[in-house]
Amino acid sequence: MSESVDGAVLVLNAGSSSLKYQLVHPESAEVIADGVAERIGDHDGSITHSQGGDESTETLELPDHTAAIRRMMELFTSGGIDLAHAGLSAVGHRVVHGGRTFYWPTLIDDHVISEIKRISSLAPLHNPANLTGIEAARELLPRVPSVAVFDTAFFHGLPDAAATYAIDRGVAKLHAIRRYGFHGTSHQYVSEQVPPILGQDPATVNQIVLHLGNGASASAISGGEPIDTSMGMTPLEGLVMGTRSGDIDPGVVLHLHRVAKLGAEQIDTLLNKNSGLKGLCGDNDFRSVTERIGRGDTSARLAYDVYIHRLRRYIGAYMIDLGRVDAITFTAGVGENAAGVRADALAGLENYGIAIDPERNAVHRKDARQISTDDSTVRVLVVPTNEELAIARQAVEVVARSEPESGSGT
Ligand code: ADP
Repeated sequence: MSESVDGAVLVLNAGSSSLKYQLVHPESAEVIADGVAERIGDHDGSITHSQGGDESTETLELPDHTAAIRRMMELFTSGGIDLAHAGLSAVGHRVVHGGRTFYWPTLIDDHVISEIKRISSLAPLHNPANLTGIEAARELLPRVPSVAVFDTAFFHGLPDAAATYAIDRGVAKLHAIRRYGFHGTSHQYVSEQVPPILGQDPATVNQIVLHLGNGASASAISGGEPIDTSMGMTPLEGLVMGTRSGDIDPGVVLHLHRVAKLGAEQIDTLLNKNSGLKGLCGDNDFRSVTERIGRGDTSARLAYDVYIHRLRRYIGAYMIDLGRVDAITFTAGVGENAAGVRADALAGLENYGIAIDPERNAVHRKDARQISTDDSTVRVLVVPTNEELAIARQAVEVVARSEPESGSGT
């Protein structure tokens, strides 16, 4: 009942047609309930809700995010939790792009909403969707403070050399074109777990974090400060991803426009939704790609090889960026589960002090662990990410700091 919910945080991650949510205790990390609403805006929407060991899925029309949050609240109520009166300490919202304005978790008020709107042109696929979640939560849970946690925030202090594109500086300034970096909540959370595992002072640790999920990004971090990251002005740059191309010659975009006669929207869809593993072999789920390789499928093989080639290129670049590397850490769906990817990403690097122990690597566990040999100078780790918990913890900190004026409108 509600007393076990007191102080919990509702974390919302609103996508264009989906809403992921989790009710979590920020201190104990206990997940009280979670779920996902999908195909919001379609007739055949669905919502899957897990609470107290029970999971239910229903199909229903969810015209917008407000409808999805309303239905989510009803499902909580059926499970004995009245979210509006449960004593939640905050609603934490994942917001993809903070531009140059937001590099710290921020208590949401009308001004913050209009600023997030203003920078939406930098992330037209993401920020407007995040805002619908924010507005719906403020309408339905008006007494609970809402906090925005920005995916770009961790990287805001990237050195100029890493953050700057080599284009006309006036054009770049006018249009806020620079490398912002994304998945910051995950890179920060995971990188903070590493020094205690190494038994080293965080200020001395040089590390590479590889967040390999559907979206994928790499970062180089020295003494807790990111010095480089693979995503850029948008989450399209860098590694090969489930459906995104990652790095591509910008000349290809011009060619697609001039010769293939594709418009901006079509190119956007091609590079964001129909590229990466999906573009190369028709499948964006890594498990299917691996299964197909096992059956001798050559397009799945090529997709995998391109993925690994790009990943190794970034690892090499970041080893040089950092000079000395204490740890390389794999995280997210592929990084935590695909032992083959970890082995191939770091194969043959013994001369650089990197040696994976095949037996340790093959063990399937949910906790943080070392998979390198005891002789490996660079420790290779698997550390599960937990973006929801990180958002929840940051949200309560912000609320605690702003307590006297929390709840004020502007
Ligand atoms: P996101 O949060 O970016 O949607 P996740 O971090 O959940 O993505 O990662 C999703 C990816 O992880 C998918 O490509 C999925 O196939 C892959 N994945 C999950 N479990 C495994 C596994 N056991 N082996 C290989 N890949 C896996």
